[in-house]
Amino acid sequence: MNEKHFVAIIALVVLSGLFVTPASGAESLWDLAQQNKDVLRISTLFTAQNVRAYLSGDKGIDDAIDWCKKTGVTHVFIETFRGNYTAPRKTLEHAKERFLAAGFDVSGCVTTTDVGKKSTGWKIIACYTDEPTQQKLQEIFEYTASIFDEIMIDDFWFTDCECDACQQARGQRSWAEYRCDLMTRVSRQRVLEPARKVNPDVEVVIKYPQWYDNFHNRGYEVVQQTADFDTIWVGTETRDPDSQRWGRKAQYEAYFIMRWLGAIGGAKTGGGWFDPYGTHEDTYVEQARQTVLADAKEMLLFCYGSLLRETGPANVEKLRTEIPGLFKLARLVRGKPLQGIAAPKPPNSDAHDEQYVYDFVGMLGLPLVPTPKINTAARAAFLPVHALKDPQLNSKLGAMLAAGKPILVTDGLADRLPASVKADKNLHVLEVNGQPRSLLELSREELRPIRDKMLAPWGIRFDAPNKVALYLIGDDCIVVENFNDEPVTASLEFAQPVNARQALVLPVDGAAAFSCKAGKIDFTRITPRTLVALTYVPARETH
Ligand SMILES: [Zn+2]
Repeated sequence: MNEKHFVAIIALVVLSGLFVTPASGAESLWDLAQQNKDVLRISTLFTAQNVRAYLSGDKGIDDAIDWCKKTGVTHVFIETFRGNYTAPRKTLEHAKERFLAAGFDVSGCVTTTDVGKKSTGWKIIACYTDEPTQQKLQEIFEYTASIFDEIMIDDFWFTDCECDACQQARGQRSWAEYRCDLMTRVSRQRVLEPARKVNPDVEVVIKYPQWYDNFHNRGYEVVQQTADFDTIWVGTETRDPDSQRWGRKAQYEAYFIMRWLGAIGGAKTGGGWFDPYGTHEDTYVEQARQTVLADAKEMLLFCYGSLLRETGPANVEKLRTEIPGLFKLARLVRGKPLQGIAAPKPPNSDAHDEQYVYDFVGMLGLPLVPTPKINTAARAAFLPVHALKDPQLNSKLGAMLAAGKPILVTDGLADRLPASVKADKNLHVLEVNGQPRSLLELSREELRPIRDKMLAPWGIRFDAPNKVALYLIGDDCIVVENFNDEPVTASLEFAQPVNARQALVLPVDGAAAFSCKAGKIDFTRITPRTLVALTYVPARETH
């Protein structure tokens, strides 16, 4: 062997090393995802436009399969219709066969944008009072049901039309009432019945948007539609919490809505769905963590095309590092009852000027239990103006206060309560001033007495800066997530001595240093934007 050959062999070894390492990494994430999909399945969507751009030929399909395997995606949704574009049957069927042959679960999807007569509101939304539009809608679902056994409906399945026909059809009803009735009826008659007629095995999924405080105003009726559809999914795209353009959503919103709809949907609850828009790596993976922490059975990465562009690749790279931890997180929370402060949001309740206040309260380190009903059996409760939807509010409140339970109400609700209720010593008022986001300005010192009062029924005390969320999972697990860009200290005191140990930290290079003495866990440092899960047992027992 001369020098040239030697160099060539070395080059070959180095090169093959380069190629082998990512490939075997991909293999292991794919294997891991296959092994864990019973607890958490990872999926992506090919929009109808993605189908045209990426799945029309075998080379594009090969690339897509490779990307999915490297990302732990084992379930793909292949969309038939979006934005008045219908993907061709041949392309859809070929893509479906290829993914099935490669070991994927495959479903269909429909996005009801540009379906027919335009709404007087948002132009991509339709007027569903209009018969020809209903007819076109029916044809889209018949077509999709003839190809797929599961159909997800993306979250444009609503209307904000106020045309003359809608005005006339609505009569004396409010827009919310009319639209809820209309969308429920059109869902039954033009989606579910025709799809099931074409394909008796078909399951149709209604995916609710993330804007839960406005569902009823645009025709999402979460109780009736959840009963009517086979499965429900949840939009958990909080995006960048500091971005004006993307709505300045608190990260906790993904958790709140997934848990709240999970309480309504029960066994029908499927996955959560988020996207990369306006995010960077840290905020992108926070969406995944909140979705999984909220007991979603699946998480959908919207969408293949968007994840190949702009911030998508860096986001996905970071997510891949967290996927093994997300599987662990899913196992830690699966099916366990939450402990903490009941946070009822009655279905179809109006938010007035307290839009999404639950999300911000969750950011304060108050462990919430999202629920659709005010249940007087709760040991503590948080009630904003939404609670006015419950006709028995005053008597329920009276009963809970009389039983000595701490109740935290917003100033907006307090102003609408009878004076006797307002004066009760167990009632605490949270000053929101019609600006829920302003709660994020509360200092650690201001938060301490609120947390102490509200957690007293459990004998728990939690101390941390703002934007450090606390989750009490079952009777053996706590999760703390630091959403700040700075490291924080925190402490959690239990009523009884416990032995605690670290079960999980995300990101993979994050850290949570803590000591556990008697009943007190002292976090001396939690790194920025880090989730830590601890499991604990009473101190007398051992792990
Ligand atoms: Zn209309």
